[in-house]
Amino acid sequence: MVIDPLVVRAREFLAEQFLAGVCAGCSAGRGPVCVRCVAQIEPRVTIGTYHGIQVAQAVTYEPPISQLVIAFKDRGEWSLRPLLGQLLARSIAHLLLSIEEGSPVLLRSPLLLAPIAATVDSIRLRDADPVADLAHTAAALLRRSGMEIRSQRLLSMRRGHRDHVGLSRGERIANMHDAFTLRGRAPVGAPVVLVDDVVTTGATLASAQRVLAGAGFEVLGAGVIAAAKGGIR
Ligand SMILES: [Zn+2]
Repeated sequence: MVIDPLVVRAREFLAEQFLAGVCAGCSAGRGPVCVRCVAQIEPRVTIGTYHGIQVAQAVTYEPPISQLVIAFKDRGEWSLRPLLGQLLARSIAHLLLSIEEGSPVLLRSPLLLAPIAATVDSIRLRDADPVADLAHTAAALLRRSGMEIRSQRLLSMRRGHRDHVGLSRGERIANMHDAFTLRGRAPVGAPVVLVDDVVTTGATLASAQRVLAGAGFEVLGAGVIAAAKGGIR
């Protein structure tokens, strides 16, 4: 019997996404993420300054959260979206609450969540843009406050730009300089919160902030799920 590869892939997808095998956090418990791993995730949002940008982070980038982020980004474990989106929304909420109540910026709407753009290659490879996806989920959660918040892809990564996995700090900073260009249309002067999954040195956020500020947006800071241990501030 010849089985069409499309059917094989569809079956794999159905089994993985809807019958959820092993936990993406520990590869031992029940998937998509087991009770033990969830219990280990204790969000405690802190705000750090990276390259002059206020960055709110919910957790430290270590297992099991690091495993979950990798599973979501690299293996398309979309069932982790609610959990990761919730952590991201929590960070952004803290960032917004750190802004003085009377600040006029909070009255200007909409507030835009701008996901850090993925490389062209990674979008093509994965047929997805996981950070934009999480920004969208977080925006929906945050709109429940009554604020007009939406996610919008304001940035594109320049073609030919490489992923910076494995690069040293200096190389990352050089690699990120002029990494982004502006895309799409948005209200000039709109307040923006940058969104990424993990902050390491902050070089990526700084590069994105430069582009948006240069175009007249007011960048309030950034919200990320996790901060790498020993991130350079
Ligand atoms: Zn687990």
